[in-house]
Amino acid sequence: MEILPGIHQLKLPFPLQLDQLAVNAYLIQGDKGWMLVDTGWNTNQAFSAMERQLREIGHGFDNITLILITHFHPDHYGLAGRLVQASHAKVALHQIEKDFIDSRYMNMDGLLDQTAEILRANGVPEKDLPRLQKASLGVRQYVAPVSPEVVLQGGEVITQGQFQFEVVWTPGHSPGHVCLLERSLKVLISGDHVLPATFPNVGLHSQSGTDPLPNYLRSLRAIEELDVDLVLPAHEHVFSGLKPRIQEILHHHEERKKAIIASLSEGPQTAYEVSLKIPWIVNGITMSFDQLQALDRRLAVMSAMAHLEPLHREGTAEKSQRDGTVVYSLAGGR
Ligand SMILES: [Zn+2]
Ligand SMILES: [Zn+2]
Repeated sequence: MEILPGIHQLKLPFPLQLDQLAVNAYLIQGDKGWMLVDTGWNTNQAFSAMERQLREIGHGFDNITLILITHFHPDHYGLAGRLVQASHAKVALHQIEKDFIDSRYMNMDGLLDQTAEILRANGVPEKDLPRLQKASLGVRQYVAPVSPEVVLQGGEVITQGQFQFEVVWTPGHSPGHVCLLERSLKVLISGDHVLPATFPNVGLHSQSGTDPLPNYLRSLRAIEELDVDLVLPAHEHVFSGLKPRIQEILHHHEERKKAIIASLSEGPQTAYEVSLKIPWIVNGITMSFDQLQALDRRLAVMSAMAHLEPLHREGTAEKSQRDGTVVYSLAGGR
């Protein structure tokens, strides 16, 4: 679908037919070749969906010369390796995430051990640990990894034909997440940083950096300052009204912070215990922790951790140890 002259949106299916998780890739016309932003999962379905949509606009994989990945999550990066073989395009990814490709998708034992350690230290019971630890292993089959040739830092300007896309580093949802800003068009390609309906997940884990939530809120406020008329997100639908949407996301995190403080007022507890008490939203539906699938449970614990650590740093919460686990409580016995 042509969103604006020279900017096409490609819809790529999720492996399990969950339409709300379909990925929007964007194809930007250039003079010598096209830039593809994000790839979808590595499945035959997504590959042929892309091939078909390219053919509809009179192109093939050969015409793609640059594949820019907004962040290294499997739905955005999964098909990259296969597309490089089909097109000989270069892949661009932020430096921080380039350095994680090997441990995340190739030699994963270390990351699995670290994940178990973090979950254990934050109170996940031993009996639930293997399921939560290995919850994301299944997605590995949907990723064809490739090392990026173009390493981004943020601030670069990518000239594609009539367009000038500025790379904006927006850490938070992932540590090297980038958005693309076309200032004269007032268009923002937002990846998973800002979505129109879902609140992007922000969790603390071994590849998140130490401060994912404060980074995320800071990145949101930075984007809010920009003069943008149209947002092209990686899921759901194209929308205008970036500022009000950012306000909703900020409000959501304020509410979660309040819920966590209310939970801590009941006494000292681990991040896992906090996550049992506060509401979670999956695909727009509010549910309790025990209604969540294993991967969402892990994300919930890591999201609670992402909130608890800044509460500790700002002095609202105290942190101590109980039988080898980290326990948070309200400072000064509030
Ligand atoms: Zn993501
Ligand atoms: Zn995504």
